[in-house]
Amino acid sequence: MGDPQPDEPLAAATPGNQNPDGAPDTVVVQYPLLHPGTAPRSLEAIRAGIATVSGFRYNCARMNAGVTAIVLSSCLMPHHPACNASGLPQADLLVVNANVRTMDPEQPRAEAVAIAGNRIAAVGDQAAVRALAGKNTRVINARGRLLLPGFNDAHVHFLSGGFQLSNVDLRDARTPGEFTERLRQFAAQIPEGRWITGGDWDHESWPGAPLPTRTLVDTAVPHRPVFVSRLDGHMALANSLALKQAGITRDTPTPPGGLIVRDPATGEPTGILKDAAMGLVTRIIPAPTRDEKLAAARAATRHAASLGVTSVQDMSANEDVGVYQELLERGQLDTRIYAFWPLPQFEKLAAIGVRAGFGNPMLRIGGLKGFSDGSLGSTTAWFFEPYNDAPDTRGLATDEMMPEGAMLARVRTATAAGLQIAIHAIGDRANHEILTVFEQGTPPPATREARCRIEHAQHLRPADIPRFAHSRVIASMQPYHCADDGRWAEKRIGPGRARTTYAFRSLLDSGATLAFGSDWTVAPLNPLLGIAAAVTRQTLDGRNPDGWIPDQKITVEEAVRAFTIGSATAEFQERLKGTLAPGKLADLILLDRDVFTITPAEIANTKVLLTIVDGRVVCEAAGFAEKP
Ligand SMILES: [Zn+2]
Repeated sequence: MGDPQPDEPLAAATPGNQNPDGAPDTVVVQYPLLHPGTAPRSLEAIRAGIATVSGFRYNCARMNAGVTAIVLSSCLMPHHPACNASGLPQADLLVVNANVRTMDPEQPRAEAVAIAGNRIAAVGDQAAVRALAGKNTRVINARGRLLLPGFNDAHVHFLSGGFQLSNVDLRDARTPGEFTERLRQFAAQIPEGRWITGGDWDHESWPGAPLPTRTLVDTAVPHRPVFVSRLDGHMALANSLALKQAGITRDTPTPPGGLIVRDPATGEPTGILKDAAMGLVTRIIPAPTRDEKLAAARAATRHAASLGVTSVQDMSANEDVGVYQELLERGQLDTRIYAFWPLPQFEKLAAIGVRAGFGNPMLRIGGLKGFSDGSLGSTTAWFFEPYNDAPDTRGLATDEMMPEGAMLARVRTATAAGLQIAIHAIGDRANHEILTVFEQGTPPPATREARCRIEHAQHLRPADIPRFAHSRVIASMQPYHCADDGRWAEKRIGPGRARTTYAFRSLLDSGATLAFGSDWTVAPLNPLLGIAAAVTRQTLDGRNPDGWIPDQKITVEEAVRAFTIGSATAEFQERLKGTLAPGKLADLILLDRDVFTITPAEIANTKVLLTIVDGRVVCEAAGFAEKP
């Protein structure tokens, strides 16, 4: 963690001291109403002051007397400008008449929330919260709708997401005709000479699943270079102009680790390039400019706000942190970002003494992302036993795992330097090996919490499941993948191994911390789709109406926790975010229906009406908010 920021409760700066149940042990009440220069009072006087604001939950044990005294003394002075006519501290924003689910076990339900500055000032019943209204307080009537802590997506690729939003969308084009039509329309809107990339097409959903060819694109977009990828990123389609600019002809040799698909009759490239061959084109595509990156980041943060995602943990932020900083300085960053850096380059951060969580609550760095294996879709996820449909392979460990012992040495040194480590592991062997690396490479949990994370934790041997809780390794998982891979995973790994695939139930029952995310752009950013997937375990093809491996279903409450307090815990921020409680950052969302009571099938259709980040309304459905 970084040093305490001046506008942050002191407790937030000392991870590792939380109560056994993970609840915050210190809440600084009325914190944002701090007025410098007012005389501090005794702790007794403060508590007396608190007691006058009845109906709220205050958990003030071990409160910092110095800080809080200044805070509350201002409210005890009858005519102080921060107080309303009743002498109570005045909030900036109230959300009243709400169905509040706090995700805080100490006070799970409430009717209203008061916000002062960027913090939650009070959570309680209608009358008590309304008592904090002053003449400048905005009051939002939630009309009984569900109010939750903002969603925290523990695994995104945020800038790529922003670029995807500004690229052509081919993901749900159902026929080759629709595919070309979307390309033609998109090309008409963009400047001359600009490449058309992204797309995320999926020929598997076309009738007969034919691979597209360059001639399909050439008819629609002849005069601009096009290089659009399949959604798994393992192949892409170039039009003739792009092939020409890249110098790819029938005489171009096939690069190692790649494939240039050729017409069997003529030998001419069809436009489809697989894996390493994609590099022949990508290397000539101009890198995005700073302005294009800023535009992508802005698009990403707006999209997140519209979906109630108030925090993201960006697994591929790398050297683009400066783009987010610029957005923050311009007042355009509406999403809190925890930025990850490639694990093999940890020395760059360690050398300057940066530790996990350096920055401020809007933008933090100090997480490291590593890779131990590939993916199930490409048969490179690393298993103990061979693939059922490819018996000659058990998948592959990545080069980061070589030579033997390299990953352990890196984890040991980076953890000792105070950085936080998240490693991608999909196959059961990869998960097994990384759990061992974490157990051997980090101090025992009782000494100092490293909070190492396994990203995906997709296929686990039953014996490895309890190791997450035992070694305090966070299971950072993306439930939407379950709905997606569930269509075909069993043909790859068979029914036995499938039983502990996306083992949400078993992990929670074993006491593990589950942090949910989307893996946007691999899957949609919308957390409600993830919650629906975790609760129903239905697959996208509709073939598992009662759920695929239904034993691993979890409840709505558990899924929402994994998307809020679970993911906050995964980034050492559980004292500042993840539940609605006084003193916490004011990140709240209002939904158009109650996901706890509607049928699971309806969850995916739920919309976000209002998103508040850092005390600011950053997204609001038209006509919803009003002054009652
Ligand atoms: Zn990812």
